[in-house]
Amino acid sequence: MKQLKGLVIVLKSINNFILNFRFSKIFVKEIITLSFIFGLLVFVLFNISYPKLATITFIVIIFDLIILNSIGYKRRKEIEEIKTVIKSIRKNKIFDENEIVLSENLKNLEGNIKAMFQRTQRDIANMEKLGQARTDFLGYVSHELRTPIFTIQGYLETLLNGAIDDPKVNRTFLKKAIYHSDNLNTLLNDLIDISMIQSGLMSLSFRYFNLYNFLTDIIIEIQQVDKNPNVELALKDFNHQIEVYGDKDKLKQVIINLLGNALKYTKEGSVEVLVLEKTKYATIKIRDTGIGISEDEQARIFERFYRTERERSSSIPGTGLGLAIVKHIVGAHNSTVSIVSKLGEGSEFSFKLSKE
Ligand code: ADP
Repeated sequence: MKQLKGLVIVLKSINNFILNFRFSKIFVKEIITLSFIFGLLVFVLFNISYPKLATITFIVIIFDLIILNSIGYKRRKEIEEIKTVIKSIRKNKIFDENEIVLSENLKNLEGNIKAMFQRTQRDIANMEKLGQARTDFLGYVSHELRTPIFTIQGYLETLLNGAIDDPKVNRTFLKKAIYHSDNLNTLLNDLIDISMIQSGLMSLSFRYFNLYNFLTDIIIEIQQVDKNPNVELALKDFNHQIEVYGDKDKLKQVIINLLGNALKYTKEGSVEVLVLEKTKYATIKIRDTGIGISEDEQARIFERFYRTERERSSSIPGTGLGLAIVKHIVGAHNSTVSIVSKLGEGSEFSFKLSKE
């Protein structure tokens, strides 16, 4: 039994020695060259006899093997340490960068592995968030699409089942079906816009344009469609010569969305567009005397699909995407949308456009 144990120890030592030697292989050339130069110098300088040279060579070889063994041992330990850390990261056994610890002379590498670990953790967190956002997005989209489709279907079926011959309701039902299909159309357009923005496909073409003409045209266009006699829509006069730099079509969408909201959420009073000119930029303000937005909601209304409970339960149509689109487009013009609003008193949305 003792002999067997001894044999195992010997075999293990030989195995360790072979392993150490393998790990020190990259230094073999250097050690042999150094030993050879050493032997040659001793031989030439001290003019020693051949038998002595053989002894010295033998001693040097033993010495070399000891050195290679200890170099190999150290390298092997270090590489094993690194392997263990990498394996733990790969198998998700490490949750915090402080769990990554390497010995003193590998501290530099430890820092690099920690940085890599942090980066991977961040990427994974981002991917998870993105996956969740995509699932939420699909959920919202299908929900938002289903509602108008079912409503339209309902009206059409009722008409087919006989209501078409009832002059008291047939036109009303058709009008309602058209109203909901218009909403569906708006929703689809908003969805296309938002997905273009988010996939980075929204390309902007910047140029200078006259702000006064731009706003006047939009207001005339809206006045032709929006016919609420209790709300006065006006553009306050300002310098007619201001030229701003931006994507005119995309900015038109911003103004239409903001004005559309202002008119939608104002039963009576006024909706005004104001422009304040500064040396380098112009601030565009859209001010209404409508229902206003509470402070809590102000923080959320730019989220995709966010509509306040009040709006969700009301008959006011909307997708909750308008302001998300506005935010992205204004952001692409290096600006942000600010809100000043008080519940029951009205709201003011504003953003800046560069004149340079
Ligand atoms: P929606 O299609 O619902 O109008 P938006 O993204 O344009 O979607 O707006 C999000 C929410 O912000 C609206 O549902 C509404 O509650 C609120 N909101 C936006 N503009 C105004 C405004 N001018 N006055 C009052 N509330 C507003």
